[in-house]
Amino acid sequence: MELIKTLDNGVSMYHNNIKQDFRKAQEILNMFDETKIIDAQMIYNNRINNEYEYSYQYDYSRMNNYYNLIDMINECKQHLKRELFEESKHSYALYQVKDISSEERQEQIRDIERRRKEGCKCAVCAFNSPSLEEWESGYMKYKGKRVTIEKALKKAGFKKELINHYMKQEKERKEMFLTISSSPQFIVGCNYNLIEDIKRSEYLLDNKECSLELAGCLHDDRLYIAMLHESLEDLDNMDGALYGYAMMRHITLNGNDYMIAVSYHGSNTTVSMLDDCIKQLESINVMSNEHVKGNDMVRLNSNGSYEIVVHDDIVIHESIDSIVSYECILCNGVGVYDGYSNRMNDSISVVCPMCDGNKKITENVHKVIDETIRVNKKIKVLPYCKGYNHYGDYIELAVSGLL
Ligand SMILES: [Zn+2]
Ligand SMILES: [Zn+2]
Repeated sequence: MELIKTLDNGVSMYHNNIKQDFRKAQEILNMFDETKIIDAQMIYNNRINNEYEYSYQYDYSRMNNYYNLIDMINECKQHLKRELFEESKHSYALYQVKDISSEERQEQIRDIERRRKEGCKCAVCAFNSPSLEEWESGYMKYKGKRVTIEKALKKAGFKKELINHYMKQEKERKEMFLTISSSPQFIVGCNYNLIEDIKRSEYLLDNKECSLELAGCLHDDRLYIAMLHESLEDLDNMDGALYGYAMMRHITLNGNDYMIAVSYHGSNTTVSMLDDCIKQLESINVMSNEHVKGNDMVRLNSNGSYEIVVHDDIVIHESIDSIVSYECILCNGVGVYDGYSNRMNDSISVVCPMCDGNKKITENVHKVIDETIRVNKKIKVLPYCKGYNHYGDYIELAVSGLL
């Protein structure tokens, strides 16, 4: 792998050697009746030029966990504010039931205000939080001495829960990769996972519409996948290595180019990791799902839908047995037929010989139909599109913070 550059926030950007693997994509298409007739290579559209298809390496958990601890420490340092708030509530309650006089109440307010201004000088409030480097090493300076962070927290009198939380935190850097790709094996592979997830969550045995979406996503030349994984070797075989993935679209807004996450897929944890990572790429216009919300609907061109002729067999299995009655065809429901006598040289009305004067004909229709008829229809296939609307020639999505 070849390092292209390191972003200001420490994320490294690498070339990966992903090869388009149509064989793998075809294997997945072959799993469904509807898609096995489709040639993956034939319907694949090369993506339009972009500068996003790389692997991005970043540290997961380290920063998150560190800031999480700092938040907890700062929360503890708010104890005086909370106590004074409770006191002032209590004082007000006493005043309301006239347990204290107006003067006493004023005195208490002044006292609370004074203590708020002075602040707290307890060891927790005076605690200097460890730096990121100290947190990683497990040691920090406390009252001039180098001690373990655990010891420092204990000495300062932090609550047991906070110390336990700190002890359980993962401090080692966990290097993760986010790879953005349009290679057919990943486009189809991730969408296949999606179909399986939908079937599982909706208890479907089969979903024809879903499997055709595999074709739609190969066709769409602005659709990408962002995959979260641990090492670059995973790119040769993602089976079991995928943490989570995002559907990405390459969009152009007011002349600016973005790669935007339209939907996230994975467990709660992996989705939050995914989101965390994508947010670290905003400086290079890779945008998190947060930007696909809001009220600014935009309409953007896309390369249409994939058209496929779908064949199907319509099976007709019917048994007809019914009595039908209709107006007599010969006498038009009059019951009388106008004949002509040559000998009399005159027309003569006779009882209608077809309906015997009944005006109606009643018949018993009986037929057993057992037939299979081959039909075909051209249908438009779109990719799976959660988070936006796809109309074939254009898409509509809500954006925020991009206009
Ligand atoms: Zn304090
Ligand atoms: Zn008749």
